[in-house]
Amino acid sequence: MENILNEPIKNYLTEKSKSFGGNELAAKFRKDFPSEIEKIIVDKNRFKVVGSPGKGNWTECPWIAILDVLITDSPQKGYYPVLIYKSDMSGIYLSLNQGVTDVIENYKKEAISVLKLRAEDFRAKIDFDSKNYLIDIDLNSTTRNAKHYQAGNIIAKYYPKENLPNSIQLRNDLTEILEFYENLTYSDNSFSDDLSTIGFERKQVRLHRRIERNTSLSKKVKKLKGYRCEVCEIKFTEIYGDIGKDFIEAHHLNPISELGIGSFKVDLKNDFAVLCSNCHSMIHKLDDPSDLIKLKQIIKNT
Ligand SMILES: [Zn+2]
Ligand SMILES: [Zn+2]
Repeated sequence: MENILNEPIKNYLTEKSKSFGGNELAAKFRKDFPSEIEKIIVDKNRFKVVGSPGKGNWTECPWIAILDVLITDSPQKGYYPVLIYKSDMSGIYLSLNQGVTDVIENYKKEAISVLKLRAEDFRAKIDFDSKNYLIDIDLNSTTRNAKHYQAGNIIAKYYPKENLPNSIQLRNDLTEILEFYENLTYSDNSFSDDLSTIGFERKQVRLHRRIERNTSLSKKVKKLKGYRCEVCEIKFTEIYGDIGKDFIEAHHLNPISELGIGSFKVDLKNDFAVLCSNCHSMIHKLDDPSDLIKLKQIIKNT
C-alpha cells in the first residue's frame, strides 16, 4: 500500500527521464497501483479504479482515480476522487476533482472558469470541515492538464512527502472522501424530480435517476434489450416513423431500497428495463417501480 505513495515520490522523476514505452513504473500506474487502491475500498463492485502516468508520454502529474461506475466509467467526465502527484514529487493530493477532458472539449478557453464555478457549486452542496480540507491545490506545474485539475478541485487533502499517511489513515481519508462523493451524487438535482418522496427515499430516487442518466450504461442497456417497450410493447418507429428510430428509455429496476452504499453490481439484463416515455413515467408512480407485471395489468384492465 505504502508503495503507491512512496514509490512514485522516490522514483518518478528518474523514471520520467527514461523512455516511456515499457517502463515498469508507468505500468504500475496503470495496473498495480489501481488494484492496491481497490483492495482498500469496501465496495469493490461499485468502484472502478484507474491510474495514468500519461498517454503516449510521461505526464507531469500522474494520478489514480476512483470512479463510481454508476455515475461515470470514464475519468474524462463527471467528478470523482483522485490521488494526484505534484510535478516535483514533493507531495500528493487526495482530491475530489472533476473530469477535465469533457469540460475542455465543450468549453475550450472558458474551461478553467467553468471548472472553478462548478467546484464552488459542488462545495456548496457538501458539508465539509474547512479545517480538514483544502479548496486550493498547487500541482507546481504549468501544463494544461495540471491547470485544469487545479481549477477542478472541489476539496482536497495534502500529503507532503515527509509525512505520508499509513494505509489505515489513507483508508480513512478515502472513505471520508467517498462519502462526500456519495453525498454529491444524492444532492445533484440538476434534473427535475417530480416525485413526492422524502429523506432517504428521495436520495434513492435521485440516485436512480442519476443511473438512468448515465449515457454509457443506458446505451448498453438499449443495445442489449432493443427498442420495444417492455410494458406496452410499442416501438416508437411504429407510431412516429423515422424520427422515433432508436428511441426508448432505460429504467433502472429495483431493488431501489437496496441501492446505496452497500454492495451493488451492475447487471444490465436484470437491473434495467427499456420503456416508452409514458410507461416510464407511470411506473414511477407505483409503490414498487420495478413491478413491470403490475403496470401491464393496469394497462390491460383499463
Ligand atoms: Zn410503454
Ligand atoms: Zn426510471
